[in-house]
Amino acid sequence: MHTTASDGRATTSEIARAAARAGVEVVVLTDHDQLSPQPGWHGRTLVLSGLELTPRRNHILALGLDQAPPPRWGAIPGEEHNGEPAMNLKTIARAGGWSALAHPLDPPLAGSPEPRSFAATDFSAIDSDGLELLNAISAFKRGARDMLSGLRLMLMPRTYLPGPHPTLLALWDAVGRSRRWVAIGGADAHAFPSGRRWLPVAVYSYRRHMRLVTTGLWLSRQLTGRLAEDQTLVLNALRRGHCFVALGPARGFVCRLHGPGGESWLPGSEIPWRPGLRLEVRLPARGIIRLLCNGRLEYRMRARRVELEIPQAGLWRVEARRRRPPAGYRPWIYCNPFYLRREDPAGEA
Ligand SMILES: [Zn+2]
Repeated sequence: MHTTASDGRATTSEIARAAARAGVEVVVLTDHDQLSPQPGWHGRTLVLSGLELTPRRNHILALGLDQAPPPRWGAIPGEEHNGEPAMNLKTIARAGGWSALAHPLDPPLAGSPEPRSFAATDFSAIDSDGLELLNAISAFKRGARDMLSGLRLMLMPRTYLPGPHPTLLALWDAVGRSRRWVAIGGADAHAFPSGRRWLPVAVYSYRRHMRLVTTGLWLSRQLTGRLAEDQTLVLNALRRGHCFVALGPARGFVCRLHGPGGESWLPGSEIPWRPGLRLEVRLPARGIIRLLCNGRLEYRMRARRVELEIPQAGLWRVEARRRRPPAGYRPWIYCNPFYLRREDPAGEA
């Protein structure tokens, strides 16, 4: 999210209040090319200060940095700069931060007087630790093809917002075959005015954003109320991929892999496949549960909970859809995969 420190329309404490009202516990602020102001606990809300590197293209989100980056990272005033994602990613990693590719397939907004895309163009950007599989603003731009679809998206965003772009899902599945690439959902909230004379309101207030696209995290323990420790807890969950992307509220979503010996793993875990692995999925409400292996749909059922045997190695992940009248079943949950690798033949070290 963006504050008034860059091009957002709210301060850190206003955003924290909006989060508390929406029941969001952790907010990551990502102002352009500078660490966002006033991180810490604001009432019941933990606010973490990250940033978004914004050359003309290849925007990168970073969290866990102590220092604002040198200006060469960001947009050079008056210059169309596409950034050097490989260098930026290296610098973030060296500083101990966590990086995510921001709005990778951002489309231009149809009918805008100045249609601009902020899609990534440099292939080395996929070396980031994670990616915004779903970005609320990019999805809005993709879904708002004309006045009617734009209006529907303004009034009923959860019902009509498109899910992740199919191309991005395919890329995510492909990269995951060789390494962990953690998916997150980004609000990208600015509360921008609509830019349309006939619609004199913001494209989603901060409060609406909070309940639209979020990242659900499984933390290794409860938040403590101390900023440094809590930031580490959040960063560790992100690094390990213990998280899922949600379109609309999804608190209570459970996804866990159980081994025959009673062990269990969270999504994002990378382990050798073995016989007897069972996947447990529980949705906060009834929906359609989809299970994919290496991007291919393996099971699909209408249910609230399922338990399934995982029959082979591969990149196994869960999606869920929820019924949202009058639009039918709509995108809801995209969970990070279990990376179940083929065991190396014995004797090969
Ligand atoms: Zn951006």
